[in-house]
Amino acid sequence: MELWYTEKQTDAFGITAKVKQTHHTEQTEYQRLDMLETEEWGNMLTLDGMVMTTERDEFVYHEMVAHVPLFTHPNPTKVLVVGGGDGGVIREVLKHPSVETATLVEIDGKVIEFSKQYLPSIAGDLEDERVTVEVGDGFMHIAESEAVYDVIMVDSTEPVGPAVNLFTKGFYAGISNALKEDGIFVAQTDNPWFKADLIQQVFHDVKEIFPITRLYTANIPTYPSGLWTFTIGSKRHDPLEVSDQRFHEIDTKYYTKELHKASFVLPKFVRDLTE
Ligand code: SAM
Repeated sequence: MELWYTEKQTDAFGITAKVKQTHHTEQTEYQRLDMLETEEWGNMLTLDGMVMTTERDEFVYHEMVAHVPLFTHPNPTKVLVVGGGDGGVIREVLKHPSVETATLVEIDGKVIEFSKQYLPSIAGDLEDERVTVEVGDGFMHIAESEAVYDVIMVDSTEPVGPAVNLFTKGFYAGISNALKEDGIFVAQTDNPWFKADLIQQVFHDVKEIFPITRLYTANIPTYPSGLWTFTIGSKRHDPLEVSDQRFHEIDTKYYTKELHKASFVLPKFVRDLTE
């Protein structure tokens, strides 16, 4: 008998993949976690029925979350990742030699545990000596911590369950306080086909707090619609004005210095969300 996984985006549309086997399934304290082996995408982590990452296309998302802000900042030394328990963003962050410390605040320890077990090519660098892993709520970390960062990356689930607070203006204001005077923050902001309202709301909230606010996109086949957005809030450095000398050699499969700039060129219906 064939087994297929489907993530329903609406009542009339979903994305689907053939499943070879289920490695693990459990209801954690925060969400339902499934680790599936798929025929097309390798191992796939889903939370509450939504694809978080797959072995085959994970590099697009993780490179684009990490390298766009890190190449925009002239000297990122201290980085915070909120969410991101699969470790993919951390792996990319550590490719930047200027980074001295990378802190991961993930609310669900089970995501970290099962990513280490079934997604070792993604989670392998969580053991690096520059990395501190904190199992806790990113919203509370931002509200209570006295640490200040050069770059903060919000690699969260969609705004349901524990991630609801991570899409609020209060959270973005907290992030601004937790950034140095030339700090940069980025958040994944879902897709423009089905979540236009969310993108519009986040963009306008961030714009009220950060002098430079930009939206960029990447193509991610296993996320609904395939077209994904990221919102940047920056205090001083503009991701569109990074000089060519800033880019150093880095081992990537999606990100390039040309793509850095091209990813900010938006289709009209997406650009309209930022106006
Ligand atoms: N790349 C994915 C996407 O866009 O669908 C998201 C990656 S997944 C690893 C996001 C992580 O955010 C989940 O492991 C989830 O547990 C975590 N998360 C959700 N709310 C959080 C919160 N308030 N604080 C910290 N982590 C949170």
